[in-house]
Amino acid sequence: MRAIPTAAVGRIVTYYRILTDLEESGVKRTSSDLLAEEAQVSAFQVRKDLSYFGRFGTRGAGYSVPTLRRELRGILGLTRPWNVAIMGMGRLGQALADYPNFGQHAFELKASFDSDPAKVGRHVGGVEVYAVDEIEERVAHSAIDIAFLTVPAQVAQEAAERLVSAGIRGILNFAPTVINVPSGVFVEPVDFVAGLKRLAYYLQGGPARERVGS
Ligand code: NAD
Repeated sequence: MRAIPTAAVGRIVTYYRILTDLEESGVKRTSSDLLAEEAQVSAFQVRKDLSYFGRFGTRGAGYSVPTLRRELRGILGLTRPWNVAIMGMGRLGQALADYPNFGQHAFELKASFDSDPAKVGRHVGGVEVYAVDEIEERVAHSAIDIAFLTVPAQVAQEAAERLVSAGIRGILNFAPTVINVPSGVFVEPVDFVAGLKRLAYYLQGGPARERVGS
């Protein structure tokens, strides 16, 4: 399979969300123009992104919303449930554990971990906080695939290594630092402070962004 740009995968996630909204509103058909408008990219970009994964829709007739949504769901690996854990149950970890809608998106929170003995044994958002020493056992027991990394930046690398050695293959890294992982393990950084800095750049008069693909 040819390499697919990370940005294209990100846009496929956006098209999938738009198609889910359309399907929930009872819309049966859509077009690359409509998807492009909703995703704020060009129609050419939509067609190019989809072409990485195959041929969808009919020229001139657009796409069937349920069919394209089902195809993208398969491409994104959302046809199976993914079990999730949280590493670091401080302010952010606890807020994420309390988020009630993971299940709607094929993700199920199964466990959480913290190095602070005072937090171990508590229940937050319906899951128990386990000691870090229990990671291997809990990851194996609940077949956990993905972890949210919500520990202080200074310990993020070591905590990530602990997760990886327990068998975690996907890390959503909230700590403001780069973490290195072996091949076959994937890291997605999440940083709202970086988003604030981008906003500050535009607000102070930096040249506005161009539409992707236009
Ligand atoms: P916090 O201090 O409230 O919580 C950190 C938790 O990690 C604590 O419960 C602590 O006991 C635990 N911990 C420390 N070392 C550990 C280890 N080695 N193994 C397991 N658990 C350990 O911090 P917070 O405010 O919840 O922030 C957590 C992280 O998220 C920080 O790195 C912070 O910078 C980052 N953050 C990111 C965003 C974002 O947008 N990405 C937003 C807010 C905070």
